[in-house]
Amino acid sequence: MKHVRTSTLLSVLLLCFVVACRKSATQSVDPPAKAVPATQAVEAAPPVVDDARLVNAEQDTGNWLTTGRTYSEQRFSPLDLINTNTVKQLSLAWFLDLDTTRGQEATPLVVDGVMYSTSAWSKVQAIDPVTGKLLWQYDPKVPKEVGSKVCCDVVNRGVAFWKGRVYVGTLEGRLVALDAKSGNVVWSVVTVDQTKSYAITGAPRVIKGKVIIGNAGGEFDARGYVSAYDAETGKMIWRFYTVPGDPQQPPEENNPKLADAAKTWTGEWWKLGGGGTVWNSMSYDPALDLLYFGTGNGLPWSGTVRNPKGNDNLFLASIIAVRPDTGEYVWHYQTTPGDIWDYDATQDLILTDLTIEGEKRQVLLQANKNGFFYVIDRTNGKLISAKPFSTVTWATGVDLATGRPIENPAARKTADPKAPWVGMPGALGGHNWKSMSFSPQTGLAYIPANDLPFVYSDYQSFKALSIGMNLGYDGVPGSFPQGDAKVRQQILGSVNGYLRAWDPVAQKEAWSVQQPGPWDGGILSTAGGLVFEGNAMGLIGAFDAKTGTQLWSNPAQTGVIAAPISYMAKGEQYIAVVAGWGGVYPLVAGDATRKGSINVNRSRVLAFKLGGTAKLPDEPKAADVKPLPRVGTDAEVAQGFRLFTDACWRCHGDAAVGGGITPDLRWSPIARDAAAWKSVVIDGALKERGMISFAPVLNAKQAELIRAYVTMRSNQSYAEMQAEKM
Ligand code: CA
Repeated sequence: MKHVRTSTLLSVLLLCFVVACRKSATQSVDPPAKAVPATQAVEAAPPVVDDARLVNAEQDTGNWLTTGRTYSEQRFSPLDLINTNTVKQLSLAWFLDLDTTRGQEATPLVVDGVMYSTSAWSKVQAIDPVTGKLLWQYDPKVPKEVGSKVCCDVVNRGVAFWKGRVYVGTLEGRLVALDAKSGNVVWSVVTVDQTKSYAITGAPRVIKGKVIIGNAGGEFDARGYVSAYDAETGKMIWRFYTVPGDPQQPPEENNPKLADAAKTWTGEWWKLGGGGTVWNSMSYDPALDLLYFGTGNGLPWSGTVRNPKGNDNLFLASIIAVRPDTGEYVWHYQTTPGDIWDYDATQDLILTDLTIEGEKRQVLLQANKNGFFYVIDRTNGKLISAKPFSTVTWATGVDLATGRPIENPAARKTADPKAPWVGMPGALGGHNWKSMSFSPQTGLAYIPANDLPFVYSDYQSFKALSIGMNLGYDGVPGSFPQGDAKVRQQILGSVNGYLRAWDPVAQKEAWSVQQPGPWDGGILSTAGGLVFEGNAMGLIGAFDAKTGTQLWSNPAQTGVIAAPISYMAKGEQYIAVVAGWGGVYPLVAGDATRKGSINVNRSRVLAFKLGGTAKLPDEPKAADVKPLPRVGTDAEVAQGFRLFTDACWRCHGDAAVGGGITPDLRWSPIARDAAAWKSVVIDGALKERGMISFAPVLNAKQAELIRAYVTMRSNQSYAEMQAEKM
């Protein structure tokens, strides 16, 4: 079931009954929609953020003007009132609870005395950065069934600001310009084919009056592209496709290279779109006038299905530089040629200058999903160095002469279900979208790194689905096999999260701190000699940027995945973060999320300052759970497992273990009753909450087989929990 439905189900569940999957873990639910305060005008005149101000954002020390703070996207704050000496006095200044409980991935902006953030379902907030008062909220009213079209939760990573307007991409593919004073819509354009599973989760960037926006959908039926729209009018100026289209059609004018790229594809990739979506990272060098963005994985993931000849499939999993005025191609570097492991190259693209072997180099840094840390000459795309920053088993290195990975041949052997490829990094990456930071003060990059294996096992007799992801692999149940407890424990034992400081010149670790995750938060570094990161256990920590020594922490009472920011207001420095557990990991990872994560989901913005006096409310107690009455024979349970894998796991978790975002089906009151179950799964009773009808892909009998599997898992888990208590 999709997360959409999931959230639906969740909400409903909450209302009737609080579900807890274990002692410390209450299940999250969308609360009933709270009344949003009437729109109130922001008092001050709209601030002017123009070209010159964005180019000079580095000097604009008290503000946070664009998602990575500056065009170089370093996420480094030059503020130092909060520093290694004073940080022990850091405490909560205010918090603001938000009206969604899905994943929160936004980096807020602070522009001349107003904070602008986003939350799940693409809502936008203007907040007083001193008091936390909500000034206005814009709800784009994304249809909840769109949640079924996104792989990785109904998230949004933030807004762009330009000349008194706030720009947001909405989940179902609109780009919307809002008046910064009122939150009223100035213009809104649809940027995708809404009959397909495109989604926007990334933050727009504005360059020279153009709003640059990409999209997601590379796990479904998307052909990747990035577009530029006139910030004044919403008129599209250019579009750059990242993979070739139907060879019967003429290639797109902005990218004549697509004709060459088409030579690196075989089969009929264009029918599903090919993937290569531009769903997260961008940066800009004003002096070189180059816009950089990263592209996603191939679609379907499996090479057996998409790319049996093992070609490069340009421009998948690549870093691309274009002219921001025209979208004209300048260079590309493909990090994972012929990707079959979901190694999107969409992690941060941080720009800085480094002295390497005595020579000053203009570089671009990326801690790629594939586990390699790349240092690239950003003037021409030439690889300078690449070394593994997390556990890497798919390749032994990167050949600096060719720029190509030196692959482990076993990593492409995915066809034998009895001997699949169990690889590191897995599909969730050595580093995912969680923001990396670079401190020019220490010369170190700070990476939220993961060790997360994945079992790459071809889905025998794969056929593209109209609802659901089209990976060509057997999904997460393959990753965490239920049948073999030893293998499962071995895989779970290798799952880890780290805050890792990386020296990009020496290409080696400076220090590393084990975090409770994987799936900890994005990172901020500051001139106060500090690094800030929230984690999966719901703690926000401050670390010494030189040594990694933890100097401070404070609870958020929910898992934190987004990155903190810092700003000045009324003469005081603040650290702020949007907290809220979510994203793909808790949706799909099942049992793995029982390790090292708080598994509680609420959404709130928290701001800290020296001597803050705000207090968080007391934590509610988790309710006990009861197992579901078993239904179905063992044979029916086995059939139900197969169907669950096809339709349900990507929102309700591997082995039906909920990760705290969508309802944990093992304890769901709806799963107690065949008629209630059918009304939700087949009839779409919870459609408005995002749990769409699966009638297009399941019949009522199949739905009941899934219920049989879920009731089996409920009893299995309950027995395990009782055994743990003894
Ligand atoms: Ca992907």
